[in-house]
Amino acid sequence: VREYVKDYIRKNGLLTLSVLAVITGCVLGFTLRGLDLSTQAKIYFSFPGELLMRILKMLILPLITSSLMSGLSSMESKAFCRMGVLTVTYYLWTTFIAVVVGIVLVLIIKPGYGTHTESSRLGGGQVITSADALLDLVRYDCPKKICQVYKTDIIPIIKPPVNTGRPNFVYLMPDEDNPKGRTVLLELTPPPDIEYTTRPSRSQQMNVLGIVIFSATMGLLLGKMGERGAPLVNVCQCINECVMKIINAAVWYFPFGIIFLVAGKILDMNDPSTLGKKLGWYGVTVMAGLFVHGLILLPFFYFILTWKNPFTYIRGLLQAMVIALATSSSSATLPITMKCLLENCRVDRQIARFVLPVGATINMDGTALYEAVAAIFIAQVNDYELDFGQLVTISITATAASIGAAGIPQAGLVTMVIVLSSVGLPADDITLIVAIDWILDRFRTMINVLGDALAAGIIGHLCRKDFPPDRAANANGAAQD
Ligand code: ASP
Repeated sequence: VREYVKDYIRKNGLLTLSVLAVITGCVLGFTLRGLDLSTQAKIYFSFPGELLMRILKMLILPLITSSLMSGLSSMESKAFCRMGVLTVTYYLWTTFIAVVVGIVLVLIIKPGYGTHTESSRLGGGQVITSADALLDLVRYDCPKKICQVYKTDIIPIIKPPVNTGRPNFVYLMPDEDNPKGRTVLLELTPPPDIEYTTRPSRSQQMNVLGIVIFSATMGLLLGKMGERGAPLVNVCQCINECVMKIINAAVWYFPFGIIFLVAGKILDMNDPSTLGKKLGWYGVTVMAGLFVHGLILLPFFYFILTWKNPFTYIRGLLQAMVIALATSSSSATLPITMKCLLENCRVDRQIARFVLPVGATINMDGTALYEAVAAIFIAQVNDYELDFGQLVTISITATAASIGAAGIPQAGLVTMVIVLSSVGLPADDITLIVAIDWILDRFRTMINVLGDALAAGIIGHLCRKDFPPDRAANANGAAQD
């Protein structure tokens, strides 16, 4: 029995603790809500959760740069191109399918049907096309940028530190450089009974996609430099090993942090009595879509493309999914997703190092699905009939908006402006769904993380000729970590 208990703790202890932490956080949060704590007390109370977020964010930059630079340096350009094209194609395909699932469900369930709000302001506002939305992905800092919503730029511009105080390929342009920037949403006035929580703090805005592009290019070039590039590759390998060691140690703090992260959020939550019945149905529609996409369609794709059992694979990812649920951030979850893939799912290191960080920024199936459902819900609330062409526009812009959303809490709510504007719906009506967005965000982030991780398994299988499975190497690496 002792052996069995030991084995169980070694294999599932952390996961069990994390799940218990989420439950304890919920119970604690709802209990303390009755006490009407002061704002200061809430801030102190949330501190352990804040610490968890900071640890995760601290690890993202060294993890991505070191793993991509060292991983890609030993990769053939041809193999890399094949993997890159497959990854992006798969990501676009699954995101589009997610949008279609969302659209079908919201048209069947009709959560906003029959409700008419005084706030209807149809016809106003600038119409943003999907081409504008896609171009804006590349040019966050460009004066020509149209919708000014995305918080990322694929081709990062490095500005001298004197100007910005920090290297720019890591951070986004500060507001001062882009006074009209920020988000349209931030200028909106929410109804008084809806607490407004969407503003991402400056420290949350890491330009992950820019870092991925820069590090991948550096990695490929270092490989071509041979002997001369080897010292830098070695440095990156050392950094990578250290980061993995920090992750392995830090995960034991996470269950404690999760309790306060979840409880703190519940303390901050709006009064659920402000939620109308329609909003409830809207929530049910999003959740049903996430369920169908994440637990039926994605596993099905995994199965037909690899002929392996998707649920065995997903079992290895549970730890990452609990962290996604607790943090609402696929970028912050990235270190844990990487750990799960390498240790539990035995995905090739080089594949995981590329597919995951790219996925954490451009592949957000859950976000895309939710954006499509939310846009159509808002149209229904406004008694606005969408024709087929507009549904197609929504499907394209929701895909584009999810690609541009950063992997941070409630980023999808911000990029929703693009979807709404593309069909002339009032951007201000985002405030109708703000009240339950924080909870939906947690579940869509889980599906975003699941989508990236399943993609890594599929791409690993499809590229197995370029990257022959080297279980021993992975296992050794994991043991070293
Ligand atoms: N929180 C989501 C993520 O990090 C993005 C979103 O849908 O708001 O993946």
